Amino acid sequence: MHPGWEPVIGLEVHAQLLTRSKLFCACPTTFGAPPNTHVCPTCLGLPGALPVLNAEAARMAVKAALALDCTVRPKSRFARKNYFYPDLPKGYQVSQFDEPFSDHGHLDIALEGAEGEPPRTKRARILRIHMEEDAGKNVHTAGSVSVVDLNRAGVPLVEIVGEPDLSSPQEAAEYLRTLRDILVFLGINDGNLEEGSFRCDANVSIKPIGEARLGTRVELKNINSFKFVEKAIASEIERQKEILEGGGRVVQETRGWDETTTSTFPLRSKETAQDYRYFPEPDLPPVVLDDLFVARVRAELPELPRVKRDRFVTELGLSPYAANVLTQHPRIAAFFEEAATLHLDAAHAGRVANFIQSEVLRDVTTQGQQASIPVTARQISELIRLVDTGKISGKQAKELYVKLREAGPEASAASLVSQLGMAQVTDPKAIEDVCAKVIADNPKQAEQLRAGKEALFGFFVGQVMKATKGSANPQLVNDTLKRLLAAG
Ligand code: ADP
Ligand code: MG
Ligand code: ZN
Repeated sequence: MHPGWEPVIGLEVHAQLLTRSKLFCACPTTFGAPPNTHVCPTCLGLPGALPVLNAEAARMAVKAALALDCTVRPKSRFARKNYFYPDLPKGYQVSQFDEPFSDHGHLDIALEGAEGEPPRTKRARILRIHMEEDAGKNVHTAGSVSVVDLNRAGVPLVEIVGEPDLSSPQEAAEYLRTLRDILVFLGINDGNLEEGSFRCDANVSIKPIGEARLGTRVELKNINSFKFVEKAIASEIERQKEILEGGGRVVQETRGWDETTTSTFPLRSKETAQDYRYFPEPDLPPVVLDDLFVARVRAELPELPRVKRDRFVTELGLSPYAANVLTQHPRIAAFFEEAATLHLDAAHAGRVANFIQSEVLRDVTTQGQQASIPVTARQISELIRLVDTGKISGKQAKELYVKLREAGPEASAASLVSQLGMAQVTDPKAIEDVCAKVIADNPKQAEQLRAGKEALFGFFVGQVMKATKGSANPQLVNDTLKRLLAAG
């Protein structure tokens, strides 16, 4: 019986930087343009065209490095990675090789604890981050004709290479989610796996538990969803176990994920891997990121998701769960925080959080950096203020929210309430409390009424109206009194 296996996983992430123009030329990066319209002599690799580094791309790349606690090298270099492929017009990709602009950082990921244990944090080391240009896109049409769209050629990417520190498919998925959230909060990436603006290659090996030496790894290429990453890694671990337990050896190779067979399949063997003949890019000077530049970028760093989550818990009194839900996207977090803090009152923030989670979020859609939220933070704050002050009930708040959504961002919650005649109505629970008290305070009349003296019903209604200074909904008072008196 084998003592057991320990998976070892290291992820390489390619994230597209949200610059307006490409890495080395002024061509736009906008998605969805007609094929080969966003090209120029530089990104087509025409003779004599010279690249110039996009400073905005460097600024975004440094943001990623700082957020992941990497060291930023004051001087780094681009290199040519040579290979032939139709989507690569120059015959080489401009990347960074032995002198990346940053290295040695880490990413803390939150993991569920073992049974009965609290959640724990795991630190996964980052080996390096470098800048590189994207390739174009081969489009395989019906009739076995392939065409090439070079709009994407030269779009800026950062490649974030993780150390092999992850030990399960779940840890790998959590690493990716955490990394994606950070890049989206930094405003430098769309975080979209399906559309390929955030791409992941997973390196997977297994070794006997306790063994120091790493096993032979397999690289799983371009898996385009978090769910698939987890499934692909799990299936690959099983495949390697079977091989090793059957006395075989794992072949170092690149494999793909087939969702229909839910298994990995070979793409190419590493043994026949080409030599990229990296050499320093002669057309670009070294990248110089001086202290002042790095300090400026550091000063621009926004609050990162984990810090925000902790602050929502400690400052605004949210549960960790609510804080997690409300920091899933920077726009949602900003919307919540604005609504929660327009009135400085601890209970207000909690009510705003609950209301956004239960009512608003189901109407919110996010797309990359954008989120469409159907009401404004001011409207939600005002609406919850009406609940805070007892003007409307929780149930009415939901109705009012629907009306606000229809009325548009200019509408005021308070004026809608008076327009709709909501303000005079109080919470059914509050009415019930008053009714119960009036009945308890007048036991003799209650007894007489139950014995058949129905005229006394008006007396009870009058008492409730008096107690609520006429603000209670008469119908609600009638119904509630009838119910309570009948219940005896
Ligand atoms: P390449 O560029 O050929 O993919 P690298 O040496 O840059 O090779 O390694 C890339 C990734 O492979 C890193 O993310 C690293 O963590 C991971 N890795 C390296 N060795 C192993 C291993 N034995 N098992 C799992 N992952 C590994
Ligand atoms: Mg690799
Ligand atoms: Zn161009």
